[in-house]
Amino acid sequence: MAKLEDVKGIGPKSLSLLNKIGIFTIDDLVSHYPFRYDILERNDLGKVQDGEKIIIDGKVESVPILMRFKAGLNKMNFRLVTQSGVVGVSIFNRAFLKNQLSVGTGITVIGKLDKQKNVITASDIKMDLLSNSVKIEPVYHCTSGLTNKNLSTYINLALLMFGKDIVDNIPEEYIDRYHFLNKKTSLNIIHNPSTMEKLKEVTIRLKYEELFEFMFKINYLKQMNKKKNNGLERVIDREKIHEFIERIPFTLTGDQLKAIDEILQDLEAPHRMNRLLQGDVGSGKTIVAFMGMYANYLSGYQGALMAPTEILAVQHYHSLQEFLKGTKVKVALLTGSTPKKDKNAIYKGLKDGSIHMVIGTHALIQDEVEYHNLGLVITDEQHRFGVHQRANLQNKGRKPDVLYMSATPIPRTYALTIFGDMDVSTIRERPKGRQKIETFVKKTSEIKDVLEMMLKELKSGHQIYVIAPLIEESENSDLTTVNELKEQMKLAFKDYYQIDIVHGKMASGAKDLIMEQFKNNEVQILISTTVVEVGVDVPNATTMVIFDADRFGLSTLHQLRGRVGRGTSKSQCILISDSDAERLQIMEREDDGFVISEEDFKLRGHGDLFGTKQSGDMSFKIASIKNDYKILLQAKKDSKEYLLNKDTDQDELKQRLIHSISIKES
Ligand code: ADP
Ligand code: MG
Repeated sequence: MAKLEDVKGIGPKSLSLLNKIGIFTIDDLVSHYPFRYDILERNDLGKVQDGEKIIIDGKVESVPILMRFKAGLNKMNFRLVTQSGVVGVSIFNRAFLKNQLSVGTGITVIGKLDKQKNVITASDIKMDLLSNSVKIEPVYHCTSGLTNKNLSTYINLALLMFGKDIVDNIPEEYIDRYHFLNKKTSLNIIHNPSTMEKLKEVTIRLKYEELFEFMFKINYLKQMNKKKNNGLERVIDREKIHEFIERIPFTLTGDQLKAIDEILQDLEAPHRMNRLLQGDVGSGKTIVAFMGMYANYLSGYQGALMAPTEILAVQHYHSLQEFLKGTKVKVALLTGSTPKKDKNAIYKGLKDGSIHMVIGTHALIQDEVEYHNLGLVITDEQHRFGVHQRANLQNKGRKPDVLYMSATPIPRTYALTIFGDMDVSTIRERPKGRQKIETFVKKTSEIKDVLEMMLKELKSGHQIYVIAPLIEESENSDLTTVNELKEQMKLAFKDYYQIDIVHGKMASGAKDLIMEQFKNNEVQILISTTVVEVGVDVPNATTMVIFDADRFGLSTLHQLRGRVGRGTSKSQCILISDSDAERLQIMEREDDGFVISEEDFKLRGHGDLFGTKQSGDMSFKIASIKNDYKILLQAKKDSKEYLLNKDTDQDELKQRLIHSISIKES
């Protein structure tokens, strides 16, 4: 297999830049798709204003004159004949083009026109004069030191040198059925489209392939799971479970009891549990998961609980210890910031079985962690663990049962597709005595009212979350930033209340410290980007204020709102926005996450079922589960048919797809 370094022009420096943006293989490189296209329409010299951008075709009229400056810089001047007249062209640092720019050569010049001097200062010269009047230019995600142009060059060189190795991951019969182009050609077109029609055609082709692979894997995992006796069969002392439930200081809801029962049945059964536990924020999934952990312990096995962030891991650790008070269960916390010494002790304890339960981030399932007898793995916030992680868990020698928790309600049709390999337990019923979170949509001009509402809450001893979409000012955006808000809030509440910030770019230690202070009510106003979205539990926080609320999908807003209303006091959520009122008003009316996710789904363009935090293979390179739902359904149907087709058991593609599930880790 060719490596990135084998592509001409990619040296150690560009290699590390490519790695930085997640490109490690030739395959990653050629599937680094443009995130948009610039459509370059040709103009006339006469129609372009002074100092404006111009794209113009013409023929070189004079031999380019090259000037060289210090530090390797150079400049080239020549005249260009165009349909709308003759114009001077000057371009920096393209000395290497000199020989190609012989008199009479047709080129396209892109640059800025100086009308006075009748000169275009060119930013680019295209040697491949196209016949049509529109040029479609791919725009890639870049990084400093790696330009759009570099990427385009590397991608095209890779396609040229190694294109012959590119294989189709769609069975031939479907390629024929849909009249698809082959993958190599499709890639060539998506990186160098000549017309919008062609671009659209291959985009569909590439999306289909991605979704076909995805659905094939889901269908395959489902098939594997249905094989009997692939799990642990154990005896669970239901008597003890009931005793334990009696001791919980509140009454479990019917849905919670049902979910617990479904989990117990899975644990007892000889097949492996592969279950999704979904329920709105605050619906009480955690206690259900803990009951599963306890039952697993009673049956003589170790359990692991994975959280997506360190903050959550710590929180779960404390709640689990509280939950298990009075038992002999030994629980450990293992995260990135666990000191080496403690880590080694935990590894040892997990290996010899003296530790019964471990909580941590997903380091827990990495290969160096050895378990005495791992019987159950629970992952919180399921959508962060993609198919490969799911498969990875199942590949672990000891076949633990697996439970995924998700607080992102998903429309049923959807769930059946992307979580089609799992059984689902749903908690819809809310714990008794929960109050509805009052929700208000406000305009920025009503900020005074908002501050007054906040002050009232602060005066009665409660705490407040304030959310903004951005951390820092950015040139091309006037969105609210957390830094800005901190200043504003300080002006409004200074000296009386402590105000602090957390955001995703902070070191995790610093973040945890501030979260801890917020938990202890040493900070009263916590300003943040959406990092608080996931699972944080501070019952004394009663108010959630979200700036630029129109920037967030309804499901995200709902998740954020779920951070309040966790205690006994009345809670409120204030959405600040000057636009999109109609959509935001859904939030005033609705408090059922499932209904909101359906609405979100219907509204399409605005929906964000998965927020922005997709990871692993739930984030597709070109397809979007939301926008390409029709293609997804077709791919689901086709991949299932293909998987079940007995004749293709020795099929090379099938083997390759199956193999890719078990070797890939992310
Ligand atoms: P989730 O994980 O589903 O977002 P949690 O499990 O964190 O929700 O539960 C939210 C809060 O509700 C916790 O403080 C929990 O102790 C409490 N709780 C859970 N179930 C019940 C219940 N049946 N009755 C009252 N309170 C409950
Ligand atoms: Mg939770």
